[in-house]
Amino acid sequence: MMDRIIVAGGSIAGVTAASTLRSEGWSGELIVLSDEHVMPYSRVPLSKGVLAGTQQPETATLAALPKDVDLRLGQRAVALHSESRTIELAGGERLNYDGLVIATGSRARRLATAGQQGELVVRTMADAQAISRQIPTASTAIVVGGGFLGMEVASTLLHHGLSVTVVDREPPLRRVLGEWLSDLLVTNAYAQGMKFVLAENGVELLGNPVRAVGIGQSRELKADLIISAVGDLPNTEWLETSGLRLAGGVVIDDACRVSPGIVAAGDVAVQEVEPAVFRRTPHWTNAVVQGQAAARALLDPTRSPYLPDHYFWTEQFGVDLKVSGRLPLNGPPRILEGDPSEMSTLAQWWNGDIPIAAAALNHKMPVVRLKALAALHD
Ligand SMILES: Cc1cc2nc3c(=O)[nH]c(=O)nc-3n(C[C@H](O)[C@H](O)[C@H](O)COP(=O)(O)OP(=O)(O)OC[C@H]3O[C@@H](n4cnc5c(N)ncnc54)[C@H](O)[C@@H]3O)c2cc1C
Repeated sequence: MMDRIIVAGGSIAGVTAASTLRSEGWSGELIVLSDEHVMPYSRVPLSKGVLAGTQQPETATLAALPKDVDLRLGQRAVALHSESRTIELAGGERLNYDGLVIATGSRARRLATAGQQGELVVRTMADAQAISRQIPTASTAIVVGGGFLGMEVASTLLHHGLSVTVVDREPPLRRVLGEWLSDLLVTNAYAQGMKFVLAENGVELLGNPVRAVGIGQSRELKADLIISAVGDLPNTEWLETSGLRLAGGVVIDDACRVSPGIVAAGDVAVQEVEPAVFRRTPHWTNAVVQGQAAARALLDPTRSPYLPDHYFWTEQFGVDLKVSGRLPLNGPPRILEGDPSEMSTLAQWWNGDIPIAAAALNHKMPVVRLKALAALHD
């Protein structure tokens, strides 16, 4: 019997889990804790329309939770006492639970040293708005990190007329998308004016407040805006004394279970894909699918594994890319439709005779069809 379920984390994974508990017919007391002070919102437009100032922040708000869900904003969980089934909040309050969903997501990784001010990142609504406000008076930007987020931010700033340089240890997008697909996207970005500097030994932020990026051998790059997009760190500090298994995230099984009465979902969750090899899937669709699976596993601990969904998308430099499949996308794909040289194609990757991934680049097609082209075997 569960009288009270607490969801820690009020973003897409937590909100999905709470809504699923209700849609599955569970009617007990349901509390969602969020340490943010604004209504739950999508992060997806933060590097796109919200950053550009073309999308109103309110439009990013997630669909409302059912009315009988007790959403508590500005409430941060600071410790979990799993033996007594209690969560401790920053203000000292303790809340008992019968079931717990851990959905505390992740935060931006930062490069600044202790006390160094002025590093810009894009993780929260406030981050995106802070940069957006500076765009009108800026003419140059450096984006440290050439992953999806960094390239989206670079694209948005470039289209606002800024001169944009991306700095990374390796060519942009290559580690995630593989050589073939990343080369297509990056060539397109160069054609539009993005600059790239390879910093094989990494970078350091210079000045306090930050005013330049050091890239070794006394070389430094200056810009009006310096934005770090160097990955994210799962928010697990509050779980450190809980006894739960942590390995670069909260370890979940194939049904999102963590321990009896505790499940986890989204960017905070990590799965052991091979012995001692742990992987997070920090994408929107995964947070939704795991949020649903976690809620169902809490209500029925005997639940069988959920079907992972390795679908994600990115929008940058006028390219709309949708991918279904496990990253990275190694080796050249088979071209099913369109022409890559015209930046419009449907491509499929194979492992032997098994199709493992598919990508639609500026190629309109139903997402279900794209997913059907990547028969994943988890
Ligand atoms: C700028 C940006 C653009 C993106 N664009 C795309 C995209 O185009 N396509 C795509 O597939 N994915 C995209 N993503 C990834 C996607 O947004 C994430 O995978 C998704 O937000 C994960 O949701 P989550 O609920 O697991 O975690 P989060 O969104 O990180 O939410 C966790 C919530 O828990 C709160 N929290 C943390 N600790 C505590 C605590 N101790 N107590 C209470 N609350 C706490 C946090 O403040 C936050 O509100 C993007 C991400 C970013 C940052």
